[in-house]
Amino acid sequence: MAKYRGPVCRLCRREGEKLFLKGTRCMTEKCAIERRSYPPGQHGQGRQRTSDYSLQLREKQKLRWIYGLQECQFRGVFERAERQTGVTGDALLRLLECRLDNVTYRLGFGASRKQARQLVSHGHFKLNGKKITVAGALVKPGDVIEIRERSRDLVAILAALESVDSRGIPDWLELDRGAFKGIVRALPAKDQITLPVNEQMVVELYSR
Ligand code: SF4
Repeated sequence: MAKYRGPVCRLCRREGEKLFLKGTRCMTEKCAIERRSYPPGQHGQGRQRTSDYSLQLREKQKLRWIYGLQECQFRGVFERAERQTGVTGDALLRLLECRLDNVTYRLGFGASRKQARQLVSHGHFKLNGKKITVAGALVKPGDVIEIRERSRDLVAILAALESVDSRGIPDWLELDRGAFKGIVRALPAKDQITLPVNEQMVVELYSR
């Protein structure tokens, strides 16, 4: 499936929730959900489908939009989650949350996951002392993510670090702002991943 390149606020409006895809704008009154909280398009204010399938599909799409993955990438993560022991839905969320682009976003090195992903792929970070450009790399407890010295005065990174306090850093991560680095203290527990998504419905969708 092709990559979505349209307006991202449209995706939030389609799902009827803030998915926080645009960084600081999402916290302001310019947010499209604040102004037009109905689905986009000519029939946006018409009757919405409520079949089991459409509800499950919407939950899956929400997760995809939040983490910025294409269908084939998302399916790959799901299949990996299925192979893990324990509850598949929990494993799915944990795998998504442990992606390097998400971790850099959570640490405040990027204003949005999309920006964080771009910064990773442009080589602005080190993982355990080595330069890394793979946004989908998975972190594990004890890993250290660091902004490379030459990238520490980038306006995008400094602005993102300034605004991180408004959204907070999850307990499973630790930020050392002065050293421009973050540490993964543990794998995220289910209750530490607060997303407006019912992951069980995603599992049901792919189990059809
Ligand atoms: Fe979604 Fe952010 Fe756009 Fe609001 S501003 S609709 S939360 S992407």
